[in-house]
Amino acid sequence: MAHESPLIGVLVFGLGLAFVLGTLANRLKLSPLVGYLLAGVLIGPFTPGYVADAGLTLQLAEIGVILLMFGVGLHFSPRDLLAVRAIAVPGAILQVAIAAVLGAGVAWWLGWPLATGLVFGLALSVASTVVMMRALQDRRLMDSERGRIAVGWLVVQDLLTVLTLVLLPPLAALLKGGAVLDTGTLLVSLAWTFGKLAAFVALMLVVGSRVIPWILHYIAHTGSRELFRLAVLSLALGVAFAAAELFGVSIALGAFFAGMILSESPLSQRAAEESLPLRDAFAVLFFVSVGMLFDPMTLLREPLALTMTVLVVLVGSAGSAFAIVRLFGYPLATALLIAAGLAQIGEFSFILADLGIGLKVMPERARALILGTSILSIFVNPFLFQGAEWLRKRAEPQPKPTPDKKASVQAPTTLSGHAVLVGYGRVGRLIGDGLKADGLPFLVIEEAADAVEALRGAGIECIQGNGADDPVLAASNLAAARILFVAIPEAFEAGQIVQQARKARSDLEIVARAHFDAEVEHLRQLGASAVIMGEREIAAAMLGYARTKAVA
Ligand code: AMP
Repeated sequence: MAHESPLIGVLVFGLGLAFVLGTLANRLKLSPLVGYLLAGVLIGPFTPGYVADAGLTLQLAEIGVILLMFGVGLHFSPRDLLAVRAIAVPGAILQVAIAAVLGAGVAWWLGWPLATGLVFGLALSVASTVVMMRALQDRRLMDSERGRIAVGWLVVQDLLTVLTLVLLPPLAALLKGGAVLDTGTLLVSLAWTFGKLAAFVALMLVVGSRVIPWILHYIAHTGSRELFRLAVLSLALGVAFAAAELFGVSIALGAFFAGMILSESPLSQRAAEESLPLRDAFAVLFFVSVGMLFDPMTLLREPLALTMTVLVVLVGSAGSAFAIVRLFGYPLATALLIAAGLAQIGEFSFILADLGIGLKVMPERARALILGTSILSIFVNPFLFQGAEWLRKRAEPQPKPTPDKKASVQAPTTLSGHAVLVGYGRVGRLIGDGLKADGLPFLVIEEAADAVEALRGAGIECIQGNGADDPVLAASNLAAARILFVAIPEAFEAGQIVQQARKARSDLEIVARAHFDAEVEHLRQLGASAVIMGEREIAAAMLGYARTKAVA
């Protein structure tokens, strides 16, 4: 059946195996990414059994990339991007240069000519956006300053790759030592590339930033969720596709821009929510597709070369990024995050390898090494993040006031007899107003940067971070608190907060928020003193209204 309907085959086997192995990895306390990659290897052409259609898997994975980058863009205003340029631009250029030189060194050791070495080195120096974004999102770091620097860094790497893709064909002939460089043609093609890039950015900023929010606004008023979802998907996919087809911009960058121009629209949050389920499913296929390309025999055939290339990525790229970020005066936490995020390669490297091999500046063997390096580096990436986190905790028990202070945990509060309020959205804000009116001192734990800014502006004490993180909750001095309000909508995280707080103090009043009966039960079991379910309260209030009008 799978052979007659290759698309369904990819979805069934790709997603199914990713689900099974991802769950298994999760049980073993490994990152599910490991399971997804292995699922890819199993349905790839190098292992026996069912072989999925690689072309189709790649295309589906591209949809994941588009939605992922669109989602990243939604969190990112053009101002955010400009704010990090001082570190992201020189940092990324320097890091790519250092890693590329190291990669060229490995190529030289393998006996390859300089031209090959340069392309090979470049392919080893650019990180996978998908892997990095997933890592940031999983750790809820997208809204922190270090997260923004990481995104800026990747955008610069992305632009460098686009540039390389344009420059490589005319330079290939020269690098191979044959033809003479036709500077005129080269300049024209450079100007053409930059012109198209500038045209795309200008079009998006001038026209897109008006038309796209307008379309969404209009659709939102039809009241149809289905149409809104469709609008979000068509805009994200359409802009990314047009960016790549018409303007020569990478599909990822196109999607990022589409999201970014929406970031300031009040509908951006909803747009992000609507694209979430599809994004997650297709992003999984990205990892499956990487696994499919990998021939496990490379590990046996090229152990030494592969070790060297993996070291270029893990030590060369990540190490140089770490050093650069530190040299720019940023705190350890920022340097560790950027380093861990860049310690892997993926889609851009494959594209460069394809082109290099097509132009005959690189042998097929280079592709096997690049793919091997990619899968190994993505495999170890979650562990690097854990290691980085461990180092950060050891080295920075008391975060200092640094440029990254927005993202780091604050010193413990001096309040006592206070209320702790986790989440300052639609619910938390109302609770805060009430506490203020009652004159009860309180502090807020909130992870969204804009809400934190508003709180600080209003002179309300607050800790930025995820309430489910130990150090964040600890800084709120629960030992001396009077009550804890868990006013976030997500019951899983709320459960973690309730559980930790209950462990910290058996007699604390804990009030939590829920939306489903099962959540009420769950939160009660974990130790909440009271759980208020929004929907029940709404029903009660609606009925109450009807009764006052004597119609019920
Ligand atoms: P709302 O659903 O409008 O009440 O908004 C919930 C608020 O809680 C938002 O401002 C979120 O940023 C915030 N929030 C959600 N999860 C967490 C968390 N784990 N820690 C801290 N703040 C959170």
